[in-house]
Amino acid sequence: MGKVYLTGAGPGDIELLTMKAFRVVKEADVIIYDRLANPDILKEAKSGCEFVYVGKEDGRHIMPQDEINETIYQNALKYENVVRLKGGDPFVFGRGGEEAAYLFERDIKFEIIPGITSAVSAPAYAGIPVTHRGVAVSFRVVTGHESPNKKESQIPWNNFKTDDTIVFLMGLHNLPMISKKLIEIGKPADYPCAVISKGTTKDQQVVVGTLADITQKAKGIPTPALIVVGKVVELRQQLKWFEQ
Ligand code: SAH
Repeated sequence: MGKVYLTGAGPGDIELLTMKAFRVVKEADVIIYDRLANPDILKEAKSGCEFVYVGKEDGRHIMPQDEINETIYQNALKYENVVRLKGGDPFVFGRGGEEAAYLFERDIKFEIIPGITSAVSAPAYAGIPVTHRGVAVSFRVVTGHESPNKKESQIPWNNFKTDDTIVFLMGLHNLPMISKKLIEIGKPADYPCAVISKGTTKDQQVVVGTLADITQKAKGIPTPALIVVGKVVELRQQLKWFEQ
């Protein structure tokens, strides 16, 4: 029986992989990965390493989560070193907790290897600090994905009345709803926000706008993308370093 490393692959830039993640990838007998993990990481695996794709797109799963859990478990019965490689950090909207619990219930040893989450690093590569003295004293990372069947919103809109930074993951398709809701709870229509697509990669795109015009401006931008709402977005004017 093997051990499973629930491993964060970082946001895209391969150099944002941790040294620990790099080591377990090199030692892996099998790597179970999803769409957001940079595929170049797989080139670091030893020869003979097996690769299992369990693609996952913006909350819509190609393979249902219970099948992913079972796939990880079956591989742990077969192999010594199992790497479950997930985009960003495994515990930030990565369902890593569910995968770990599934293994715990089946007496499979596991380790969590945190990764650099896109929630902080994509803004950083866009020149947007998620906190900034005198501008934002905290930041929230929120799911922007809402099931269209749910009558009541799962998102705690009324908590967003302050100027603290809000980062929405999995929210691009809901951008019209998100900006409308934020205006409804009292944010000004010209409140700053940004959409960051493929953050930290050579294909990174950043669109800056206001709650009123961001939907229009970000039309057609590719996923994965996240939304940053807050006055910190204005700091980008001076701090955008990556695109230069
Ligand atoms: N565990 C991941 C997040 C998984 S949810 C992490 O910690 O980063 C998937 C969402 O993450 C996407 O819908 C998108 O909103 C965001 N995302 C992931 N990688 C991204 C990137 N390189 N640039 C912008 N957004 C990204």
